[in-house]
Amino acid sequence: MAQLSDDCFAFGGPMMSVDEAVGLITARVNAIADIETVALVDADGRVLARDIAAPLPLPPFTNSAVDGYAVRDADLPQQEERALPLDGRIQAGGSAQAPIKPGHTARIFTGAPMPPEAGTVFMQEDVRIDDAGNIVLPAGLKRGANVRPAGEDIPEGRVALRAGQRLLPQHVALTAAFGLTRLDVIRRIRVAVFSTGDELASPGEPRAPSQLYDSNRFMLMAMLRRLGCEVSDLGILRDERASLADGLKQVAGSHDLILTTGGVSTGEEDHVKAAVESIGSLVLWRMAIKPGRPVAMGIIDGTPLIGLPGNPVASFVTFVHVVRPTVLALAGGLPEPLLPIPIRAAFAYGKKIGRREYVRATLRRGEDGALEAVKFPREGAGLLSSLVETDGLVELGEDIKRVEPGESVGFLSYADLL
Ligand code: AMP
Ligand code: MG
Repeated sequence: MAQLSDDCFAFGGPMMSVDEAVGLITARVNAIADIETVALVDADGRVLARDIAAPLPLPPFTNSAVDGYAVRDADLPQQEERALPLDGRIQAGGSAQAPIKPGHTARIFTGAPMPPEAGTVFMQEDVRIDDAGNIVLPAGLKRGANVRPAGEDIPEGRVALRAGQRLLPQHVALTAAFGLTRLDVIRRIRVAVFSTGDELASPGEPRAPSQLYDSNRFMLMAMLRRLGCEVSDLGILRDERASLADGLKQVAGSHDLILTTGGVSTGEEDHVKAAVESIGSLVLWRMAIKPGRPVAMGIIDGTPLIGLPGNPVASFVTFVHVVRPTVLALAGGLPEPLLPIPIRAAFAYGKKIGRREYVRATLRRGEDGALEAVKFPREGAGLLSSLVETDGLVELGEDIKRVEPGESVGFLSYADLL
C-alpha cells in the first residue's frame, strides 16, 4: 500500500486554487510500484509499467500504399507518359523476391511488399492499358510515391510508449503491431468507497420517509472503475463518530485510497472530520472552486483518505479535480491535465474573481453553424438532472468576472474527464 506521512496533505493557505491542489497531490502521493502482467485484451485502461521500445520497425517491410503498378526508379516516366509491359503480380502477404525486369512494371496491391529496386507505385486509377496490353503510366509522379518505407511510422528501437501511459485502444493496437502478447502494467489501485449520512438508504433497501437513496456512491464507484481502479463498495456509514472511525480504520491497511462522500462540511452533524482525526490525521482543503465545498484530505495508517462533499454535483466536480489526479499519481500515471476546448458561450454569467467555477452546459450548433455552450438553467449543487441533461462543464478561470453571450469559454466534455 502507499504509505504517506501524517502531515502529507497539510496546507497553509486559507483557500487553495485547483492548480495548487493538483500540484500538492502529484508531488506528495507515492506511486505504487507493484507490477502485474496482463494479456493485450485486458490492457485497455491499465497504466503501463515500463517503456516500450519498438522491437521491429513499423511497417516491418517496405510496401505499397495503394492498388496499382510498381516501377523501377530508372523506368519512372519523366516528361512523357510511358507504356511498360507487365512483369509479375505481388499480393498482400505475397513474396517480392524477384526484381522486376528493367523496362517492366509489376501489378501490386495495398500492403504487398515492394519488389527489389522498385521505388514507386502508380495508382491503378491513374494508368490505362493500351491495345497491346501494356500499362501506360502518366508522367510526373515523384519517386517514392504511394510507397510506405519500412520504419516510416516507427523506426526499430524508438521508445514508442512511456511508462505511466494509461492505455487507450490505440496504444493497445500499437503493442499488438509490435507482436507483443502481454504487457507489464501497474496493478489496479484499490479504493474503498463509503457514503456517509443518516439520511441515506441503499437502493434495494427500505427507505424511510426522510431518507433519499444513496446516489453518490454509485457515481463515484463508476468513475473510479473508469479510471482503472478496483473498488470495494463499503456501503453507508452513519453520522456517528465512533462507527465512522471503526469503518474507516478497518479498510486502511488493505486499500491504497479511501474515498468518502458527505459529512465534511463544518456542521455539527459532519462527523468525518472528527472520525478521521481520532484515528489518523486530517486537513480540510478549502478549495477555490464552485461547485465544491471543503474537501477533506487525510491519512489513516499511511493510507490516504479523500472526503468529498455530499452534494452530488460538488462530489462530481471535486472528484474530477482531486480524486482523478490522486488515482493517476498512485498508479504512477503520466499527468493528464484537463484541457478545456474553446467554445462560444450562449449565456451570460457573473462570478467571483479568484475562484474557478464550473458551469454545467449543453452543446448545440448556433445559427452560423459554430458550436456553442448553453448553460443549464438552474445552479443547485444537488441537482442530479443538471449532470444528466448536459454534455460537460464550462470552465471559468479564477481571473474571469463575467461572461457575455458570444465570448469564448473553455469546455470540458464529460467524456474527457475520465
Ligand atoms: P453533506 O455533505 O453530508 O452535508 O451533504 C450535503 C447534501 O448532499 C445533503 O443534502 C445530503 O443529503 C446530500 N448527500 C450526501 N451524501 C449523498 C449521497 N451519497 N448521495 C446523494 N446525496 C447525498
Ligand atoms: Mg451528511
